[in-house]
Amino acid sequence: QQVMAHGDMVARLGGNEFALLLRRTDASAALEVARRIAHAFEEPLAFGEQTVDLSAGMGIACWPTDAADVDTLLSHSEVAMYAAKRRLDGPQLYDAALDSASAQTLSLLTELRRAVEQNELRLYLQPKVALQGGHGLAAEALVRWQHPQRGLVPPADFIPFAEQTGFVRQLTLWMFDAAARLLADARTQGMGLRISVNLSTRDLLDPALSNRLGAMLVRHGVQASAFCLEITESAIMDDPQRAEAMLNRLSQQGFKLSIDDFGTGYSSLGYLKRLPVDELKIDKSFVMGMQTDENDATIVRSTIDLAHNLGLTVVAEGVENAAILERLRALACDEAQGYHIARPLPVDAFLAWHAQQT
Ligand code: C2E
Ligand code: MG
Ligand code: MG
Repeated sequence: QQVMAHGDMVARLGGNEFALLLRRTDASAALEVARRIAHAFEEPLAFGEQTVDLSAGMGIACWPTDAADVDTLLSHSEVAMYAAKRRLDGPQLYDAALDSASAQTLSLLTELRRAVEQNELRLYLQPKVALQGGHGLAAEALVRWQHPQRGLVPPADFIPFAEQTGFVRQLTLWMFDAAARLLADARTQGMGLRISVNLSTRDLLDPALSNRLGAMLVRHGVQASAFCLEITESAIMDDPQRAEAMLNRLSQQGFKLSIDDFGTGYSSLGYLKRLPVDELKIDKSFVMGMQTDENDATIVRSTIDLAHNLGLTVVAEGVENAAILERLRALACDEAQGYHIARPLPVDAFLAWHAQQT
């Protein structure tokens, strides 16, 4: 705080992101403040016996030259921050002309914010069915963006970007809220429905995640055990210690936890054994290849055995035909999800699909 003046503000935006509001400053004075902060980070942090090297990516945007309103000011400083992270060349001033990618980034970010405000996001559900008897129905929540011009946009077109910019945290909360609302809806009572929600690295590294989810459970009056949280191996391996701490909290809260796209990441089995995980989800690339590629079939079979030996249930995603479904059943796979059973469906269509099953 030695670098700041009276009336300036520091705020935590979430996770490891902070914003500084410097009043009565110009770009060069702000740059000087950023350089002093960067300098302060050069000193390693003593942490008991250990020393930890720290660094920070910093971006600066000025009002009114770079942005007319608060939202744009924040997103422009974010754009500058990502440029700083990429260039590894110290704090960056926002400059739309220098960085053509930033204009795109910015407009997509503005559009995504609008998507949430204008309720353009849609909750789709894809059923996960039990293969070995068992009752109750599970479904995975998958986001879609009903864009006013571009139509229905698939997650692959905006999730990676949302992850990069940290916006995915808001998106996750939106999805979780929509799923919780559905679980509280009279139409789903008695179905024994459990909904899986996908989490990203950014969610997992947000120390407030479990409290935020907990508050939504209370607001909608639903149980944590009605949810499964899907996390990819790579999200865990980005920062294994922090991820492990958050996973432990979520598990204690009563959430079921699943490792998504299993087999495509680099998590070690030793690690997996320690995590409070309930389910492995075999990546669809192996499942889809089962019929034609013996290696894929072997991977699927071994993963099912591995999961069971570790006391976990196992789900196969990407089940596209009856032959694969029957083969998975014979291999003692617990659950299946895929186009053969149903595509991801809007809520009403999902409820209609369920009504037809019985
Ligand atoms: P995922 O979590 O592995 O979700 C499974 C994906 O496989 C979905 O794609 C689903 O539509 C697709 N799929 C299901 N059955 C089949 C099948 O039989 N054949 C084939 N070829 N594909 C099948 P989708 O909905 O496009 O989502 C893609 C990815 O986007 C998801 O992969 C997930 O990583 C991410 N995603 C989707 N919604 C969310 C969300 O709300 N939050 C976050 N963080 N990520 C999400
Ligand atoms: Mg998933
Ligand atoms: Mg998956």
